[in-house]
Amino acid sequence: MERLAAEYADTTTALRFADTFQLLIAVMLSAQTTDARVNRITPALFADFPTAQAFAAASPERLSPYIASCGLYVTKSKNIVAAARIIVERYGGQVPRTLEELTALPGVGRKTANVLLSVAFGVDAIAVDTHVFRVANRLGLARAKTPQEAERQLMRTIPQKWWSSAHHWLIHHGRAVCVARNPRCACCVVDDLCPSAKRFLRLYARRSSGRSAG
Ligand code: SF4
Repeated sequence: MERLAAEYADTTTALRFADTFQLLIAVMLSAQTTDARVNRITPALFADFPTAQAFAAASPERLSPYIASCGLYVTKSKNIVAAARIIVERYGGQVPRTLEELTALPGVGRKTANVLLSVAFGVDAIAVDTHVFRVANRLGLARAKTPQEAERQLMRTIPQKWWSSAHHWLIHHGRAVCVARNPRCACCVVDDLCPSAKRFLRLYARRSSGRSAG
């Protein structure tokens, strides 16, 4: 964790937002797409729908054209409008602050809820997205088959003071070095600690000797 912290000082989300409700919408939109793509569509979206009330009053069909480029937009439109209506009707327009209340909103899973808890409310939490899941398993910080299992194991492995930051460090590492295909183990700051490094380096050596023989 100390090495990752030194490597990735930035521990904020790459998503752009002006308030907690906008963060919720941005995280919901980020499923199966990149933060960069979300950041490209949210300025127009938030300009035309500036509040939870504005989203609640919209129809999913009205929202769809704004978010069509970020994948799963039909489902995301429905979930966002439904979640906004609950937030307006049950919570007076304020995003609720507990894991249970957040995960009860349509389209909000543990990952989204944990991002809200840590980024917006300053609660120690580890949100497990695809990068965190992959890097944690490769590094041996977790040996998990599901994100929820990984979250539980990471909470045992990593000191609580680092939970929220570790989420960002592991994401940065997963994007920059420990990428899904062909991780860059030769330039990884934790390669000597990583139980997967030898496996990947052997694989690369085999590939390159196969190419030389060919
Ligand atoms: S050594 Fe390789 S597999 Fe291990 S964390 Fe670094 S990049 Fe990922």
